[in-house]
Amino acid sequence: MQDQALQTLKSVFGYDAFRGHQSAIIQRICAGDDALVLMPTGGGKSLCYQLPALLFDGLTVVVSPLIALMQDQVASLEELGIPAAALNSSLSNDEQREIADRLRRHEIKLLYLAPERLVQPRMLAFLQHLPISLFAIDEAHCVSQWGHDFRPEYLQLGQLAELFPNVPRIALTATADKRTRDEIIQRLHLQKAECFLSSFDRPNIFYRITPKDNPRKQLLDFLAQRKGDAGIVYCLSRKSVEATAEFLSNQGFPALPYHAGLDSELRAAHQTRFLNEEGLIMVATIAFGMGIDKSNVRFVAHLDLPKSLEAYYQETGRAGRDGLPAEAWMVYGLQDVLMLKQMLANSEGDERHKRVEQHKLEAMLALCEETRCRRQALLAYFDENLAQPCGHCDNCIDSIETWDATEAARQALSAIYRTGQRYGVGYLSDVLQGRENDRVRALGHQHLSVFGIGKTLNDHQWRSLFRQLVARNLIDVDVEGFGGLRLTESCRPLLRGETTLLLRRDLSSQTRPARSSSQASQLVRSHEREMWEALRALRRQLAQEHSVPPYVIFPDSTLLDMLREQPEDLADMAQISGVGARKLERYGAAFLKVLNQHDSPKSTPTPSSQDLRHELVTLARSGMTPEQIAQHMQCSLKNVYSLMAQAIASNLLSLEQALDLPEELLGDIQDAFLQGEGELPSVASIAEQFTPEIEEGVLYCVRAALQAEFGNMV
Ligand code: ADP
Ligand code: ZN
Repeated sequence: MQDQALQTLKSVFGYDAFRGHQSAIIQRICAGDDALVLMPTGGGKSLCYQLPALLFDGLTVVVSPLIALMQDQVASLEELGIPAAALNSSLSNDEQREIADRLRRHEIKLLYLAPERLVQPRMLAFLQHLPISLFAIDEAHCVSQWGHDFRPEYLQLGQLAELFPNVPRIALTATADKRTRDEIIQRLHLQKAECFLSSFDRPNIFYRITPKDNPRKQLLDFLAQRKGDAGIVYCLSRKSVEATAEFLSNQGFPALPYHAGLDSELRAAHQTRFLNEEGLIMVATIAFGMGIDKSNVRFVAHLDLPKSLEAYYQETGRAGRDGLPAEAWMVYGLQDVLMLKQMLANSEGDERHKRVEQHKLEAMLALCEETRCRRQALLAYFDENLAQPCGHCDNCIDSIETWDATEAARQALSAIYRTGQRYGVGYLSDVLQGRENDRVRALGHQHLSVFGIGKTLNDHQWRSLFRQLVARNLIDVDVEGFGGLRLTESCRPLLRGETTLLLRRDLSSQTRPARSSSQASQLVRSHEREMWEALRALRRQLAQEHSVPPYVIFPDSTLLDMLREQPEDLADMAQISGVGARKLERYGAAFLKVLNQHDSPKSTPTPSSQDLRHELVTLARSGMTPEQIAQHMQCSLKNVYSLMAQAIASNLLSLEQALDLPEELLGDIQDAFLQGEGELPSVASIAEQFTPEIEEGVLYCVRAALQAEFGNMV
């Protein structure tokens, strides 16, 4: 069975290896058992039922909540040469009848249905006459009444267990928390299912969170480095969505607004454009996203703070589904906190619910003010432990300074208290800095003991301090009043001098170092640009001819693989990741022609080897094997070893992090290098003893580690 699965993976989907738990899941399903699959977005869930569907004789029924998504999936499957269909209300009666006929003739391998459609008695009766091999329940968290995507129709899917007792079921979701998991098992009657829980880390996403000081300028600076990339900019309100989209358009960025207040036709049109065109920026409220399957969203930017880490993770997770480098970028400021607290205070719901929401907001704020690795903090919230800092977030690559803010915080707290706990940040910093303006004089605050005690900090610094005090819940916002700041219970120890307070030092945007993550995440390097655009143009043209989105023809990762590997004939082309038999036959020649027309030199890691090395170090530290890294970075294994050796030689990576070598073998290799005296021998001179069993690259890495330890002489 596994051989057959692997062979189908290669011949139909064009992939060389399974990812993560895919292989085990498929094995389980093919043995006729149930499975619950928890995998992050982009992890490769669809393959877990699409591939078994091909191995089974009968029909696989896929339950999916969104019509738009179904159509996308059906189009993708058809492109792979797999007969698939979706039955939904957008079809005419004739079209529906035709699909029913094809089903009766057993001509369809995968049938997509919305849950409400599936559980109609007529539909169930119809299905009972078909040879069904598998039920796949996608977005299974929709069954959770506590979740944000609850769909009552999902509750009825439990009956499948009774109606089709011999048909295996697989439920899939990208929501991992235990409560949702238990609810899925219970409501879908999946007690016998094996649960496959993957890491929820998204190693290809770079995280950056920056204090907001001039958001539009900050956004422009960010976008300037990513011209031509598709992305989503999230804003809290419809008004700011409109304003931001217009602003970006005026600045020459192709941006479209999307929010629930737009006319539904216009909204659908914008969504379609975002899916079908390349390099569009969608400026949206959170109404946009669920059901966005676009795999090459290169960035998600937040101009306003999401209200929980769950929301942040989900929204940022829409970036980089294709596994290629992507960035989650956010600016956040005190104003966001005030706004969210206000919304929370005014929201309906009981006290308990509000308290839960309050805690969620606090966790979100804590991530913003985090001084250690963001990824570690984010994953820890979801009960996942990342052993080491990731090396791939702002806090890991910029050095974060902290400062002892105990004294300043006490001054701030006193100022709040002495002025009666009813003023905002602007006024309080005037008082602290001793600015005797009209308002101060009118209130007589120039006579207070706190007047002018905080002259060592400027407005910017006071704002940063107040923001962090709110984030740490040492002070609170009077949302019922006029948004004035007031003390909370938890500030007492600080006021009494019992605790100290270390805060993050904000760099203003002027002093922020020019170093940016975006170079590291830029997909194509300048000398490859022309060829890349030519490949994309061909893909666009084919997509139009076939009326599908471009990424259905080939994802970016496949184009990138072509660019890097430069296949010369169809046999080479068949080796490219994502090129299965059907696509090879349909598109192989056309892409080869483009590749041959633009004879660009094979890329080597030199042009920006630093960026590549940075990415490699991250991946190696996260525990990927060289093979996995090669696949992930879309480059040859040889290149991976060469970059690894460089990283090891410069002490960016330890040999243990890079390779999992048996101790004895490592000893043997080290001995071979160390037997002589004088200069460290070259790899070539000892290779004979080890190759071909051991990759030459491994020897380079061991040599690099010796070099890092002893220098060039032994
Ligand atoms: P999810 O549904 O979990 O968000 P998808 O099923 O859309 O993820 O898969 C994400 C991307 O990864 C798709 O482009 C898919 O073709 C690709 N993919 C899935 N499995 C593999 C694999 N074993 N090797 C290479 N690419 C894969
Ligand atoms: Zn990190």
